[in-house]
Amino acid sequence: MTTSAASASWCDGWLAGARRCESPNCGPRPDGVAIELALVHSISLPPGEYGGDDIVRLFTNRLDWDAHPYFAQIRGLEVSAHFLIRRDGELLQFVSCDARAWHAGASSWRGRSDCNDFSIGIELEGLEGESFDAPQYVALAALIGALRQRYPIAAVTGHEHVAPGRKNDPGAGFDWPRLRALLRSTAPDFPEEAVEPR
Ligand SMILES: [Zn+2]
Repeated sequence: MTTSAASASWCDGWLAGARRCESPNCGPRPDGVAIELALVHSISLPPGEYGGDDIVRLFTNRLDWDAHPYFAQIRGLEVSAHFLIRRDGELLQFVSCDARAWHAGASSWRGRSDCNDFSIGIELEGLEGESFDAPQYVALAALIGALRQRYPIAAVTGHEHVAPGRKNDPGAGFDWPRLRALLRSTAPDFPEEAVEPR
C-alpha cells in the first residue's frame, strides 16, 4: 500500500487487503451521521508485550481472562476497534467502517460527544509512553489515505485528545509530526502537537 496513489478497494465498509477478524462488539451508527474522525489508539496485551494474539481475542470475545494476571482487571470487557496495526505494519479489521465500533467510550470532539458515532477507531499495537515502529506509521498513513477515499474524514486525533484525563493513548511516544509528514498535502486536521514539533 502507498499513502496516495493506490486506489483503495472497499466492500460494505471492509477494506481489501486488511486481515478480517470479525468482532461482534459493534452496532449501527446513528442515521445520517458522517464519518469525520480517524481516532488513533494504542493497545498491547498483556501490556508491553507484542506479537501475541490476545488483542484479537479481546476484540472477538475469546480472551481467556485467567491466562494472565492483568486480564482480571478487564474481565468481561466488550470492546472493539475498526482496525489494528501490528508492530510490523500488518493491518487487521474487526468492524465494518459503516458500523459503530466500541473504542472511544465517554468522549468529546469539537463539542460533539460520543465519538464512536462518527469516528473510525484505529489501534496501534503499542504501549502508552513508548514509541511505535516505522511500519506502523506507513500503514497508518496508507489506511488514512484509503479511508479518505471512501469517507469524509476531516481530522485525525488521539484517544487522549477526546477523553483527556481519562485516557492517555496513544501517548507521548506517538510521533504526530511524522504521521503528518507521511500524509503531506492530503493531511486532514491534526492535534496541535502535530503542527508544532515538540
Ligand atoms: Zn484508546
